[in-house]
Parts: sequence; C-alpha cells; structure tokens
Amino acid sequence: MPSPFRDRIVALSRFHGGPLLTTSFFLDTNLSKRTRREILLAAKNMIAGGRADIASMDVSREIKSSLEKDLAALEAYFAGNLSSTVPGLAAYSCSGAGFWEALDLPEAPLDRLVVDRNPYIRPVTRILEDRRRFLVLTLDRREARWYDVYMSRIDPLSSLSSDIPKKVKSGISGQEAKRIERHVEALVRAHLKRCAQTTFDILKKDGFAGLWLGCPDALYRDFEGMLHSFVRERIKGRLKVRPIDPLDVVLREAEDLERTLKKREEEDLLKMLIGEIEKGTRARSGLRDCLAALNKGEVQTLVVTRNHFVPGKHCPRCRLLFLDELRCPACERKTETRPDIVDEAIESALHRKCDVKYITPPSRLDHYGKMGALLRYKA
Ligand SMILES: [Zn+2]
Repeated sequence: MPSPFRDRIVALSRFHGGPLLTTSFFLDTNLSKRTRREILLAAKNMIAGGRADIASMDVSREIKSSLEKDLAALEAYFAGNLSSTVPGLAAYSCSGAGFWEALDLPEAPLDRLVVDRNPYIRPVTRILEDRRRFLVLTLDRREARWYDVYMSRIDPLSSLSSDIPKKVKSGISGQEAKRIERHVEALVRAHLKRCAQTTFDILKKDGFAGLWLGCPDALYRDFEGMLHSFVRERIKGRLKVRPIDPLDVVLREAEDLERTLKKREEEDLLKMLIGEIEKGTRARSGLRDCLAALNKGEVQTLVVTRNHFVPGKHCPRCRLLFLDELRCPACERKTETRPDIVDEAIESALHRKCDVKYITPPSRLDHYGKMGALLRYKA
C-alpha cells in the first residue's frame, strides 16, 4: 500500500543510533478531549519526568548529553506545534546522531515518552493497521470520478466523461422524441458500462478495503446490475456526493461514513464476542485468560480496547506472556518486565496470524476486562 506516511515509518524502523539512545514522544492533541493548556501541561510534565529519568540513568556522558538535547528539541517542537489541529503528534529524536522525525497522527495516541535503543514505532503502526483504504466513485449520467481515500487524504485516480445530450428538445413529434429518448438511454447505459469496467480495473489491482458509491438512486439499480460480482461484493456504503462536488466535500463525507461503518462493525463484533463469553466455550475475557489462551495458541481473534496498556511479564526463552508470573511456568526461567503487555499480546497475535480487532472506549468490553478473545474451533 503506497503511502508517504508508511514510508516514513519504515525509515524510522530502520534507524539505529549506534551506542546512543533514541527518544520517542507521543502526545494526544485531540482538542475535543482537552484544552490547549492541558495538552501543553501534559507535554511539559512528560518532558520534566524524562529529565529526571535521564539524570538517574547509569549511562555514558555522551548518551546522556544526546538525550538531554532530545528533550530540549521536543520542548521546542511541541511548544511551536500546539496550534495544529491534528488529533495526535509523534516525534523521534536522537540528537547525537543528528536524527529527528515528527509525524502528524490521524488519531490520538496515549501520551508517552519512551527512551530505547530504537524508535518506538508501535503506537504509530497500530494506527496504520487500523486505517483502511477505500475507493470512492462518484457517478451521474455523464460523469464519473474515482478517488483513493486513505489516512485522511483523498487522491483523484481517474475520471470519465461521456457526451450525452441533456434533454430531448421541445417541438419534436412524439415518435421522434421517443426515438431520441431511447438513443439517449442507450448512451447512458454505455456510459455506465464503461464506469463499471473502470471500477473493476481499479479495484482489482489495488489494496482497497472496499468501494463507496456516490450515485443517484435512479442510476444505482442499473449500475449495480452491470458490476462484476467482485465489485458488487465490495460496495461498503453509499454517499450523497456527486462528481461535481469538490475534493474536501467528498473526503468529509467519506470519513463520516468510515466512522459510522467502524462503529457498526465494533458493535456487531462486541455483541458476538460477549454472547460467546457468556456461553463460556468459544471465547475468553480479561487480560489473564486472554494471555493464557494466546500462549496456548488457541486464539483466532484478539479483541482489544484502543489505547489500553498494562505492564506485564514475558519469558525471553519461550516468548510466553503473563500478567504477573515471576518465573515462566514452562521453563522456570525468570520473566522480564514489559511496560505494555497488551501491546506484546497484539504483536504475538499478529505473529501467530490471528486477527486483531480494536474497540473504542468506553464500551461494553470495559466490563469484561477491556480485552476478549475468540478461540479457534477445535478440530
Ligand atoms: Zn519460558
């Protein structure tokens, strides 16, 4: 999936500061949740906390000096960027190696400052995994436009315009008018056929999660009938926008639809998951039971609450995950502390080719330990 955002994350994942450490910083700048003052205060507090941590670190002078410069750079960056209207900011710095990267995020991350050997990119990759790319088609009797909508961006892909007379001129005899009308309808059908073919060509070669269609009801039935079944199955929703509408209007409606779809999908998933949890055979709930099921390879779909993190334990030999085991029950080795066991669980689930689904809090999943797992059917 081509995306400048993804390319920058790949570059981040490859960066290594040699002996130096990298500072990763995430800030929730969603103004619908808190004021600019509160955001600025949160950033200041995190940076102050970071300074205290660096002072007490047992590392070389060179590493400390690079980290101190990171914090100064972050302080300047966030102070200057708080007028931005994006819901989240991420910044990475390794001053001693001359490394700096800042990203606007399409959704709010959890406030965090992480100092580690590598840039901490998981909060950003999680956002990326969660965003879907859609093909938008706006269509009327003469025009059609195709757009690529992804990560709050809209890019025109193609357009088509057919030469179709608007109306039958007045002053023409009944029979002649009917003949012209039939001719016009045949031209419209040919136009729709070309649109159906172009939609198929675009949709089959690119990684789109689905098609959204902005098309008058009067054309919809005819057009739908002309679509290849591959395309028809991928229609995820209808839009009110038309080919004449400007890009920002199309994007706004598309994003609204995506939010509505996501919400409905989350509700359906929760209903199914909670039903299974109540029955008690094919599902687990809560972090402890979900980790146990993951360790046994029983999980088919892991369902996690967005931005929920809990520290936990990890066996460096078996790679098993626990909430609070001091020794691995499988190999007796001492477990290591992980700052975010939920994230380790997501990583482990993806590694085992399980589905991972996210639920926006607050939700009914909060009553079930904020995490659930659907188990594989036993053979
Ligand atoms: Zn072990």
